[in-house]
Amino acid sequence: MATSLASVPLEMRALQVTEFNAPYELRTIPVPKPGPHDLLVKIAVASYCHTDSMVAAGKFKSKLPQTASHEGSGTVVAVGDSVSSFKVGDRVMCGIPLHPCGECEDCTGPNESYRQYCTNITGHIGVTTQGCAADYAVADSRTSTKLPEAVTFLSAAPLACAGRTVFRAVRQTELQPGAMGRDRGDRAAVWDISGSSLRAHAGSRS
Ligand SMILES: [Zn+2]
Ligand SMILES: [Zn+2]
Repeated sequence: MATSLASVPLEMRALQVTEFNAPYELRTIPVPKPGPHDLLVKIAVASYCHTDSMVAAGKFKSKLPQTASHEGSGTVVAVGDSVSSFKVGDRVMCGIPLHPCGECEDCTGPNESYRQYCTNITGHIGVTTQGCAADYAVADSRTSTKLPEAVTFLSAAPLACAGRTVFRAVRQTELQPGAMGRDRGDRAAVWDISGSSLRAHAGSRS
C-alpha cells in the first residue's frame, strides 16, 4: 500500500500520442499507481526534447496511446512501499529510466552510461512508458533526483535529459568545478555549477 495524499484524484489530463505523425491529443485517463520503488509526482513542468518528435514519429515503436515528455519536475504525492529516500511533499526531477534491473551487465558494469540501456528495464518514461505531459506521472525513485529549493521546476525539467547528458559529458572530462580543461583537439570546456544554475560551456578556443 503506497503512502499518498488523500487529495490525489482518480483521473487526470494527459497529452498523448494517439497516432504517429499526428498532433498530440489532450485526453482524460486514470491517474497511474506507483509500484514499490516508484514516486507518483504531481507534475509542475514537462519540457519538450527532440526525442519527443522521434516518439511522435514512431521511431521508438511506442505502444499507443503514449503520454509525451521524458523531462518532468514536480512534487511527490505518493511513494511506493520500498521507497525510503523520498517522501510526500518532496520536490523532484523525474528520472527517465523506469525499473532498470540492477543485476545485468549494463546495470553493474563499470560504464555508468550503459545503465540506461538495461535490457530488462520496464521502459523510459515518455518514450516507451507513460510520460510527464500529464497532471501526474510515475517515476522510479532510484533514478529520480530531489531538488534543492533554489532550483525551480522550470530549470529542473530539462535537466532530466539535456542537463544529465551535459553533466555526464563534463564528468567524463574529470573537470573540477570552476576549472577549464582542454583536449587534444583544442576544444575547451568550463564547468560551473551553483545552487540555482548548471552551466557547461564547450567549444573551440580559437
Ligand atoms: Zn539491468
Ligand atoms: Zn530528451
